[in-house]
Amino acid sequence: MIWPVFRGDETRAPILEAIERIATALRAERFGGRPIEVETDLRDVGGGDKQWEWIKKGIPLRIEIGPRDIAGQTAMLARRDRGPREKENVPFAELPRRIPELLEEMQRGLLERALAFRDAHTRAIDDRATFDAFFTPKNVEKPEIHGGFALAHFCGNPACEAEIKESLKVTIRCVPLDDVRGARDGHVKERGRCIVCGGESAQRVVFAKNY
Ligand SMILES: [Zn+2]
Repeated sequence: MIWPVFRGDETRAPILEAIERIATALRAERFGGRPIEVETDLRDVGGGDKQWEWIKKGIPLRIEIGPRDIAGQTAMLARRDRGPREKENVPFAELPRRIPELLEEMQRGLLERALAFRDAHTRAIDDRATFDAFFTPKNVEKPEIHGGFALAHFCGNPACEAEIKESLKVTIRCVPLDDVRGARDGHVKERGRCIVCGGESAQRVVFAKNY
């Protein structure tokens, strides 16, 4: 999202012209196999309001261009994954290279964070008592946030699945094809004993609770 910061009428034309030029240059760049989507917001609304509006809407990158930026041929660039006041000064000529680079960096950051969250909430569990404790709140009156993803062995018998669902409201979410990242205390692809009946199991599956 690109928008102008006007100071008096005489600065309008060069700013609008620069925005148009930059938008065109950025639309020629690609990210994630598609042309980069560039929007401009030329409404006569205060910069602070515009900023919040676009942050809330989830626009990943914001570019502001004012009179001083025209003089220096640079733009103020801000990322959604940083504080609203944290801005980077980027020369106009650098933007077509810098924008895809930042999108890539942000994408990687989001993925890393999601994987770290998943890892932190995933446990390999091999005995029923631990499994029950994992999915049972300590305070039954006022249940605290508990549980997460349990990697446990399952024999494949629908009766075992039904028993777990009945007793704990826990269901199978996924039968991983590969070793799951985060299975730090046990591997998915190893033989074991069903968490319910003790029958043979070829691999662990992912259990989680329905709330
Ligand atoms: Zn079983």
